[in-house]
Amino acid sequence: MRDYIQRTPHPPPTEYITLSFYQFRPIDEADVFKIQYYFLTDLRPMDVVGRIYVSSEGINAQISCPKNRVEEFKTYYATHWPIFNKIRFNPAMSEGKAFKKLHVRAKKQLVSDGIDNSTFDLNNEPTYLTPEEWHKELSSLSEPPILIDMRNHYESAIGHFENAIRPDVTTFKENIEAMFEICKGKEDQDIYMYCTGGIRCTRSGALLKSKGFSSVKMLQGGVTAYGRYIQEQRGDAKEKADPSTSTKDAKVHSIYKGKNFTFDKRLGEPITEDVIAKCHTCGAPCDLYLNCSNMACNLLMISCPSCLQKHEGTCGSQSCVDMVKELNEKQKQIQKDHPGLIGMKARPGIKPYHEHRLRVRPLTVLEMRKNEVLS
Ligand SMILES: [Zn+2]
Ligand SMILES: [Zn+2]
Repeated sequence: MRDYIQRTPHPPPTEYITLSFYQFRPIDEADVFKIQYYFLTDLRPMDVVGRIYVSSEGINAQISCPKNRVEEFKTYYATHWPIFNKIRFNPAMSEGKAFKKLHVRAKKQLVSDGIDNSTFDLNNEPTYLTPEEWHKELSSLSEPPILIDMRNHYESAIGHFENAIRPDVTTFKENIEAMFEICKGKEDQDIYMYCTGGIRCTRSGALLKSKGFSSVKMLQGGVTAYGRYIQEQRGDAKEKADPSTSTKDAKVHSIYKGKNFTFDKRLGEPITEDVIAKCHTCGAPCDLYLNCSNMACNLLMISCPSCLQKHEGTCGSQSCVDMVKELNEKQKQIQKDHPGLIGMKARPGIKPYHEHRLRVRPLTVLEMRKNEVLS
């Protein structure tokens, strides 16, 4: 395709901007690996980190780019990737490095639903509403619309749009099935849908339209873009507001409540201050996602600070607590015997729940473990 780009090293960056972008576009299977290779070799010298997925369907990326090199990255992208020229850079609400490393992976599907692309028209896209259009249209409806959250249960658990239908699903494939169930017989009605950044709706919207649904509207840039819109409105409102009114009164009424779940180390960014979820252990209002500190368990859980402290940062199951306590003791001993040596943080010791479906269902797993102990 072209030559490797040489770049001079910069000092390690400290400030980062997180961007996401995607485009469905058929690519020759043989080119997928070349694209993967070029992204890896080109972006590393730019200190870009994140996850880029390439497939014969197109590209889907979430990256953190050093703040002072964003323009360089955009110029690089515009120059070298004309094949993906329909992307929109979708910045995250908060600044900061959301990833540790750069991963570029070749995937079979960008978002897995197992549906063959030859069975529908991906170009039959839904109508894109900008966050402002979305906000105004949904705020002005007299009846609650058919509004579908195209994300998984653990994502919508900590934040969602008012009146949204939130299928209790663990995978995108299940959500597609739920979507068809919800929309059955409503071919002539307006259907609204949203997800984190838009890619899941671009695909599921095209599926609906190909099946004869006439009016499918999606939130362009997803919850991430809506969050930024609300953020900007508040910023503007603060500036324009009469000094005699409090900041609170000047706030735009967000029709999204709570956090936007993100698939990076932040595991979510707040859009409003509402806490709509509960601690999985004690039931106190909480929307802080964490992984069990026993790496072999790795359960994705919502845990309040007091439960976290009580259970050594684990999911609270006895085996995880014991394991982490034992490891911490060993760690202390190693530190004492060999100062400066960093030992292993965890080791297998509990039946691992690497299967995605279970890893994100902490209440089910904890219930199962309880039964295992009893039997
Ligand atoms: Zn708790
Ligand atoms: Zn655990």
